Amino acid sequence: MTQNPNYHLETLAVHAGVEPDPTTGAVMTPIYQTSTYAQADVAQHKGYDYSRTDNPTRTALHGALAALEGGTYALAFASGMAAIDTILRLIKPGQHVLSGNDVYGGTFRLFDKVLSGLGIEFTFADTTDDTAVSAAIQPNTKLIWLETPTNPMLRLTDIAAIAQIAHVAGAWLGVDNTFASPALQSPLALGADFVVHSTTKYIGGHSDVVGGAIVLNDTAVYEQLKFLQNAIGAVPGPMDCFLTLRGIKTLAIRMAQHCRNATQVAHFLADHPAVAEVIYPGLESHPQYELAQRQMRGPGGMISFILHGGEKAARLVARETKLFTLAESLGGVESLIELPAPMTHASVADSPLAIDPGLVRVSVGIENAQDLINDLKQVLNRV
Ligand SMILES: *Cc1c(COP(=O)(O)O)cnc(C)c1O
Repeated sequence: MTQNPNYHLETLAVHAGVEPDPTTGAVMTPIYQTSTYAQADVAQHKGYDYSRTDNPTRTALHGALAALEGGTYALAFASGMAAIDTILRLIKPGQHVLSGNDVYGGTFRLFDKVLSGLGIEFTFADTTDDTAVSAAIQPNTKLIWLETPTNPMLRLTDIAAIAQIAHVAGAWLGVDNTFASPALQSPLALGADFVVHSTTKYIGGHSDVVGGAIVLNDTAVYEQLKFLQNAIGAVPGPMDCFLTLRGIKTLAIRMAQHCRNATQVAHFLADHPAVAEVIYPGLESHPQYELAQRQMRGPGGMISFILHGGEKAARLVARETKLFTLAESLGGVESLIELPAPMTHASVADSPLAIDPGLVRVSVGIENAQDLINDLKQVLNRV
């Protein structure tokens, strides 16, 4: 089942990785809440021996994640950051990583504050511009790292074009696919070597679990990452794997509703006199609308917008919506609202990546679109 390439995403989301439990026939994956496993004899173990190394609930999740991304192998982690950190352990001191310049703040912090202290060289470039990427390649470049769409500016990078640049340079391409989810974008099919997710977001989808994942095709690199997963030990527990698997079942229908709702909300915002600018890959006004149409199967659930009233108006909106909860994170069934400049992006305040303090970011949930629009309307009519 897991590797059957003929099934569509909706089917894979429900079935991939999951087989009825061999001992009981349980249809839903059991939560194997155990740290260790009885062995038949000394030093002859086959199968499971210790849950840092492997756990059946995690094995099922690996199967589901690989199938969703159309990859051969997947590995699950305790968080998105743990997944990214584990890939970076493939990079040796003296090697160079070329990263997108508006990656997730936690990724920037890991690269800039943790790993560059260990002798890995980083440069940050605008991956939306092929020429800038080519110019930043060095003889020791081993990895190009990017996100598309980015947070919160929703800029897009042409994955296939950058994959080609990476491979000519003898480097890997890693794509953080958290914002699009596997329902809307398939980086491996476009030439990426690694796909990473914060499964905390759309894959889990219910704001009830933190997790991460790597998906890839190369067997030798998979073996190295599998070794690192066990050696480092940033693995998710069985309950977290179960919750993520449970979330995955509805990924396809959730993403369809996120896209439908966000499209309606984006059009409402674009027509509202209090709103100066709406950034959404599904609007023709998006500077990379054509790339979004070509590379993504839907525009996603994230919208950023700027109000004529600036920061003061943005703060009022973020505080006074009722259905949109003021909170960090994204990708859950419930709508969230936040101001990146003082909240998620405070750490880049004094850098060229500083975000307009009047920018509002919303993660549009799967509620009724008109209810969401009415909620925004009642506050926008007052700013
Ligand atoms: C949240 C997020 C991460 C980090 O994932 P955690 O699960 O919070 O560790 C990485 N990349 C992107 C794009 C994210 O949104």
